[in-house]
Amino acid sequence: MTFEDLGLSPEILQAVADAGYQTPTPIQEQAIPYVLMGRDVLGCAQTGTGKTASFTLPMIDILSTGRARARMPRSLIITPTRELASQIADNFEVYGKHNKLNMALLIGGVSFDEQISKLDRGVDVLIATPGRLLDHFERGRILLTDIKILVIDEADRMMDMGFMPDVERIVAVLPKIRNTLFFSATIPPEIRRVADKFLINPKEITVSPDISTAETVKQSLVVVAAEPWLKRDVLRLLITTEPVENALVFCNRKRDVDLLNKSLLKHGFNAAALHGDMTQPARLETLQAFRDGITKILVASDVAARGLDMPKVSHVFNFDVPNHAEDYVHRIGRTGRAGRAGRAHMIATPEDSVFLDAVIKFIGNEIEQIDVEGVESASMSDAPPRRGRGGYRHRQEAKGPGKGPGPRKSPRKRPVAARKSSPAPDTAPTAAPLASATAASKPNETAAPKIPAPRQKSPPKKQNTEEPVLGLGPNAPAFFLRPDRSRSS
Ligand code: AMP
Repeated sequence: MTFEDLGLSPEILQAVADAGYQTPTPIQEQAIPYVLMGRDVLGCAQTGTGKTASFTLPMIDILSTGRARARMPRSLIITPTRELASQIADNFEVYGKHNKLNMALLIGGVSFDEQISKLDRGVDVLIATPGRLLDHFERGRILLTDIKILVIDEADRMMDMGFMPDVERIVAVLPKIRNTLFFSATIPPEIRRVADKFLINPKEITVSPDISTAETVKQSLVVVAAEPWLKRDVLRLLITTEPVENALVFCNRKRDVDLLNKSLLKHGFNAAALHGDMTQPARLETLQAFRDGITKILVASDVAARGLDMPKVSHVFNFDVPNHAEDYVHRIGRTGRAGRAGRAHMIATPEDSVFLDAVIKFIGNEIEQIDVEGVESASMSDAPPRRGRGGYRHRQEAKGPGKGPGPRKSPRKRPVAARKSSPAPDTAPTAAPLASATAASKPNETAAPKIPAPRQKSPPKKQNTEEPVLGLGPNAPAFFLRPDRSRSS
């Protein structure tokens, strides 16, 4: 099938050709004709499948006739994050370059005045995050009674982030007669319930999740004791020993994004942080620097990184095992795109056993466990005992490995023991650069290059926050070094 077969206008076909697209992706092939017919669509598709064009292309076509009135947008796209909103806006510019449509982006972190003056000029396409849209609506700056097309993008993420009540409030003030396109990476029952409320007789389209991307991504797992400094060691070792061109490093919490970024910077890596607490201009600037290759390592939270299209990421590091199994697929889907080979490492601790199980169940495969030279691997079976029905007991309460009733499961088998190295400790310092880096930087620890086993009770405070002296190894590629204009954070 070709784009011409989909019934799109010559202007759009030209824009698509200019973008270099040869054939429509499955979601485009299936969704575009229905959107052009005016049918509601329920699309189960992830980022990377071409879903943005599957709704933007027909929208441009439909909106190309008619004009918007001041403060009365004709279409609305609701997205969970500012980055995703900006990305959709970029797509509109690319695909709509031969059409004269006005677009406005209503996202937090940007001045209201600029947004208001755009709304006043009349907007065909409004792309918004729920909070900022409601702000404008409640201030009476915008009327939503002329919306003909509504797109809800990444509905599952919207629900995870607690935005669904806001979305429901917005949808309640929209005209009942409209064309609604609802996209979600997964459609669990709670999402379906919302979809049922918003959609009328939708055409349901499911394209296989981006797991296909994972086929080009070699995944591995490193299990170490639950010590933040040890995880940071492992990360640095992986970055310096792998052929990393650029990397995304995911943390579960914003706070950890900052901490890890500071740690990497301190160790001379060219890194930057991306999370939801940053101002919008700072987020966009950081992202652009990463896309342009100025920043080599981007430490990010899921919220900030979700849906971002970064075609050339050589490595993804899961500094934390994600709390939502599907986030793992999103994370590793940032590498190995467009047929390129990618590499995804995950650093887990025995305490992550429940989440790791969930990831493995979700992807339907074991992840190869590897050892990192100079680091003592832990076993998932070292997990502290679980208390009650949920979660593990708090670290401070844990008695340490070996005590208590033990893990839920037997130790995880290593499918392939792809040991990166196994020199005997007494030969290691000369045999391996990483081990020698360890030994050289710890003059008092000449015997074994291994990092000590997890500390038990009340570790000295300094040890807990200080980085061990492992850092850039002698073989570290030069480009990891921070550019001269040193970063502040
Ligand atoms: P999306 O899933 O919308 O985030 O799109 C992922 C990437 O695929 C973006 O970089 C798009 O530019 C690209 N893309 C979208 N449609 C096509 C197509 N038909 N052919 C080639 N690339 C495409």
